[in-house]
Order: sequence, then structure tokens, then C-alpha cells
Amino acid sequence: MRPPFPSRPRLAAHVLGRRHLVDGDERVVLHDLGTGRLVQIGPREWGLLAAADGTRDLDGIVLAAAREGAHARGPALRAFLEQLHAAGLLEDGIEEASPDDAPGVPAARPLEPLPGFSLHCDGGGSCCRIYASVIFAPVEAARARALLPLVQDGGARHERVFMPEHGSGPTGGSAVTLRDGRCAYLDDGGLCALHARGGAGAKPVGCNAFPTSFIDDGESVRVSVSVECACVLASVGRPGGAPLLPPGAATRGDLDGAIVVDRLAEQVAVAPGSRASRAAFVAWSRRVAALPPSGDTAALLLRLAGAIDAGGLDEDAASRAAARPDRPAARALLPWIEALAARAERRSREDDAWRSERDLGRRATRWIARAAADLLQPGALEVVLAAPVAAPASEAFYLRAVLHGHRLAGDLPLSLALRDRAARLVVARALPLAFADGERDPACAHPLGLVEAMLRGHGLDAYAHDL
Ligand code: SF4
Repeated sequence: MRPPFPSRPRLAAHVLGRRHLVDGDERVVLHDLGTGRLVQIGPREWGLLAAADGTRDLDGIVLAAAREGAHARGPALRAFLEQLHAAGLLEDGIEEASPDDAPGVPAARPLEPLPGFSLHCDGGGSCCRIYASVIFAPVEAARARALLPLVQDGGARHERVFMPEHGSGPTGGSAVTLRDGRCAYLDDGGLCALHARGGAGAKPVGCNAFPTSFIDDGESVRVSVSVECACVLASVGRPGGAPLLPPGAATRGDLDGAIVVDRLAEQVAVAPGSRASRAAFVAWSRRVAALPPSGDTAALLLRLAGAIDAGGLDEDAASRAAARPDRPAARALLPWIEALAARAERRSREDDAWRSERDLGRRATRWIARAAADLLQPGALEVVLAAPVAAPASEAFYLRAVLHGHRLAGDLPLSLALRDRAARLVVARALPLAFADGERDPACAHPLGLVEAMLRGHGLDAYAHDL
């Protein structure tokens, strides 16, 4: 049963409002993280919604919005909010702060960087053109507005260039406006205007840290990379790039305190209905990472998943599975490809209704939908699985980076997470055939990076819950 209409409405915390400039037109898109649904509203409606922060009744919202230049009569405001309420997008009253009682990562915890990797960033700004959210901390937003006050007229008002990270009430982080899918601070030449004006320190800490990831597993802070950028894969096997850590950094205490260090949970879901201790998962992960690289990482992932189904986190079973030469049967991956094809196709249709054709995210979703649909043609998946792997070193590196960063421990049990990653690899193998003439972009140079960025950065990874 739907809850009653809120007396002091606010946009729910599971909704992300993002301001987009689409071919010069301003619009606000509400992303419901619970359902994956998108609702598009205009800037004036956002002006009303921004005043609905959980502290005001309808009369108060009308007055507060009018002060900010968004005018509406009470009945029209109520009708608008009732629509959002019917869609499950509103909550009542202010958002309760979640208790942050998790102990911090000890300053003495050693840092363990991914061995043998350094980054050659091409400076082309692909990563600034593809993410659905770029978050600034309060001081980072204030500095950006001071350095470049004319960007979206943000010097005059924070709200002109930034939105709450989630919901409509005040949040710690702020999401920057996107211009045809690009960060508002990315200049037309593909360079960060904040960096150009104020140096690297003028960028948000998340931008400076990208694509490095940090996770504490109780033994060490694993420092790995997100394989979400062509530059990461272009760096594989090339020494002499930028190291993942600043010179001399050896423990958590040597890192910038603003860097987010995730924590690996004490218990990890291994298969549906079964869990293992963090220590057992870490030991399994280390054993798998030490295996010789496979010429077919998708096949290896599927064999590891089968070994977990049969015997849990048995490290010897993982080694035996890795040593087997068999290729995967198409039927093992088919449901995964079907689910990803359906979700990407749905998102692509939604994107066509409002995103610019210049928006890399729109084009990449279309490519993934096409590639997955192509794999569903009779016999196509079998052909791709039997063909020689075009980029075996990239795929082997991907698995190494995922294992080192404990990315397989998430909301999917490990046995399913392995299959999910195999499906991503196979879709990436098929992606080059989905690029139509004239559509290619520098980000297409390494299709796996594109698939990874879209799955996490645009929420397409939720496909794994559709099976
Ligand atoms: S702030 Fe700069 S580095 Fe960060 S996303 Fe925007 S343009 Fe890119």
C-alpha cells in the first residue's frame, strides 16, 4: 500500500536529480536508483522540488520556491508532487543522518598497490565525458565556482552549477551539471578547465585519484585500478607511467584523508545462500591472482564459478579449474547476455528521448545494446566463444585488477559475480562490430573499458539482478 501523501515532502534519497544541458536546452533528470526509472522535468519544476527539502509543507514550498524565482500556485504544486509521490519518488520529513559508526581504517594499515602497473593518461578527457555523476565536496565546489565563476554562472549561486548528490535536501557532496554528458568544467578541447586555471589541486579529489581504487581488507589497503578507461588498458605492459601512489606513500596515514577507502565486509557471499569469512575470501583471491594468465579469461571466470558452485572457496579446486582447457558452453552465458541486452536496449530507448547524440553515454549504451543483441542471433555467441581472443593481455589484466581491488565482493555472490564479469568480457569482444561508420570515439580504442564504465557509471550493471 502506498504511504499517505507526505506533509513535508522531499525527493527521496534513492533518487538522483541531475541537471543536463542537452544541445543547449536545460533539463533535469530524476534517476530512481530503486527501479532504474528516469523522470524528466524542467528547470522550473526543479526549482519547486529544490524547495521541497522535507522541512516545509506545501504553503512553505510555494513561498520558498517563489523566493528563488520558481512560481507555482498551491494546487498546481500539489498535482506535480502527487505525480512524483505516485511514482515512489517522495519521502516525508528531513533525511535522518545515517550513523557512521564504522571504525576508520587504521593509519598504519599498509598500502598494497597492484604490482607492475603505472598509468599513461592520454589527457583526452574521455573519463570526464562518460560518467552520470561527478561529485564535488563542499570546498571543491566553492573553489571551482571561485576559479571559474562564469561556468553555468556558478559564481553567483552554487545551485546554478551543482545539484544535491541525492534527494532534494542538503547533502555533503554536490553533482556538477553535465553538458551533453560532459562535466561542465571540461573545456571544448577536452581538457579540465579547473586544472588549466588552478593546477591539479583545483580538481575534486575523486578526479585526481581516478582510476585508482582503495579497499581495506583487514590485512592491507589494496590499491588497484578501475578498468573503466581506455588509458588503463593502453597502459598494460608499458612501464614508466604515473604510479598509483604518491612517492613514499606506504600506509593509509600517508594518503590524503579525503580519499575514500572502502572496506571489505567481514562476511562475503560466495554463492546464493552461502557465505565465507573475509579472510577465506582474501586467501582465495590471492590464490586465483597468482595463477598463470589465461588466454581466455571469460572461460577461466566461468570455470572458477563452476568450481565455487561445486566446492565453495576451495583454493585447490580453483587451481584445478583454471588448469582445465575447456571452453564455456554458450548456454552458460546466454541468460546473462539476454538480461544485459534487454536492459541496455531499454536504457537506449530512454536515452534517445532526451540525451544529445553528442553524448558519449548515449552512444555507448546503444553500442552495448547492439553488441548484446548481435550475440543473441542464432549461433553468434558460439562463434564469439570459439574465436581466438583479440585482446588476451587486456582481459588477463582486467581479472588481475578486479581481484586485486576485491571488486568481486559486492552485492552479487561471488559465483554470480564471476559469471557477470565473463558476460562483460564477451560483450566487449563483440563491441567493435557494433560501432557504425562515423560513430567511433577515442574511448572505443579499448571496448572493455567502455563496457566497464557504462555498467558501473550508468547503472547498467543492475542487469545482473534481472536474471
Ligand atoms: S572536474 Fe575536471 S577532471 Fe573532474 S570530471 Fe570535470 S573536467 Fe574532468
